[in-house]
Amino acid sequence: MTDTTNASLFERAQAVIPGGVNSPVRAFGSVGGTPYFVERGEGPFVFDVEGRRYIDYVQSYGPAILGHAHPAVIASIQDAASRGTSYGAPTENEVLIAEEMCSRIDGMDKVRLVSSGTEATMSAIRLARGTTGRDKIIKFAGNYHGHSDSLLVAGGSGVAQQGLVGSEGVTPGAVADTVVAPFNVVPEIDETVAVVCVEPVAANMGLVGPAPGFLEGLRAACDAAGALLMFDEVITGFRLCRGGAAEWYGVKPDIWCFGKVIGGGLPMGAFGASNEVMGNLAPLGGVYQAGTLSGNPLATAAGLTAMQHLTVEAYEHLTAIATKLADGMQAAFNDAGVAAVVPRIGPLVGLFFGDTAPHDFDSAKVICDNGVYPRFFHGMLDRGITLAPGAYEAIFPSLAHTDAEIDETIAAVAEVATLL
Ligand SMILES: *Cc1c(COP(=O)(O)O)cnc(C)c1O
Repeated sequence: MTDTTNASLFERAQAVIPGGVNSPVRAFGSVGGTPYFVERGEGPFVFDVEGRRYIDYVQSYGPAILGHAHPAVIASIQDAASRGTSYGAPTENEVLIAEEMCSRIDGMDKVRLVSSGTEATMSAIRLARGTTGRDKIIKFAGNYHGHSDSLLVAGGSGVAQQGLVGSEGVTPGAVADTVVAPFNVVPEIDETVAVVCVEPVAANMGLVGPAPGFLEGLRAACDAAGALLMFDEVITGFRLCRGGAAEWYGVKPDIWCFGKVIGGGLPMGAFGASNEVMGNLAPLGGVYQAGTLSGNPLATAAGLTAMQHLTVEAYEHLTAIATKLADGMQAAFNDAGVAAVVPRIGPLVGLFFGDTAPHDFDSAKVICDNGVYPRFFHGMLDRGITLAPGAYEAIFPSLAHTDAEIDETIAAVAEVATLL
């Protein structure tokens, strides 16, 4: 592999790509140092261009839930690719994956496929406004809904790591109808509100679960005001359990948004709702939404195969892996006398270097910005374990992680904890 190193590639990348990356968090800005350039992935591992192997908990931020280069997913992509990569006409797999999604979610009759989570939430908001004839949307501080203009305010995740409130280049007009409320408090909802957007489990400010009664309270307040409730399940969807957060918490939104897991590692998002609401979407209704590559044959093939592997048993197994990881990490921190909380909700794992788990963005931010995470991150990276290069992201074990990798991870945590 001649003289190709992470450092040399990063230098070349920075000359031709802003910051050397195509999504800001990958640049290691908030943890410092040089990003590893991935050469390939396999199961729970990624390998960098220097031939180094890492146990991977980034998992592409969720899509690699079966592990990297899962043989069945790769075979389905190869098979689809051999028949062409995009037609601009409908295909059978679009029907199959839509049937699979709708069959898992009570109350969701129809879905529209798009190419990212950002597109899903952006389109869902237009649909909500078109359906209600109202303008205002409510979102919660620290919830991330992708990078569209009206949703980027107080967005958590990469935006929070940048130290930017929202983004330059977003006009006051674009956010004039966006109201930001604190997470875990049911806001005032009046008759001007089209939709309340929420991550039912906040996973872009570390991992912060809904307080008891929060989601139920949102449902009731939306019903009282005639507003729609949108669950952004881009992370929780088909990850928390078969039916995502709506099933997990027993609260039904009006609109669901998906991404990450559903593409099996290829670019795909989706939004769905009842027949009544989806009937407002073009070509049935007047809310326009479209996409040249939407329902892409490679993405639907990969996504359908991934979904078919995500059985009830698979979720139980993934939750067992996550539980072993979270409990082991918590014990290692406790043993070392490090103030840390490792929250877990089903198969989702978080990490906060503080005495108590936060409940909203303000309390999460104090912990995420306290400077401990970058040291922990590099200690783990030095030991061949990749976590997200930012304190606001979740930890993603996959179905490919075995006891051996979890044990190795916990041993590394125990070592690094003594150095913090
Ligand atoms: C990642 C994410 C998005 C955006 O999805 P992209 O595919 O990156 O556009 C939206 N909402 C949530 C909750 C996410 O975690």
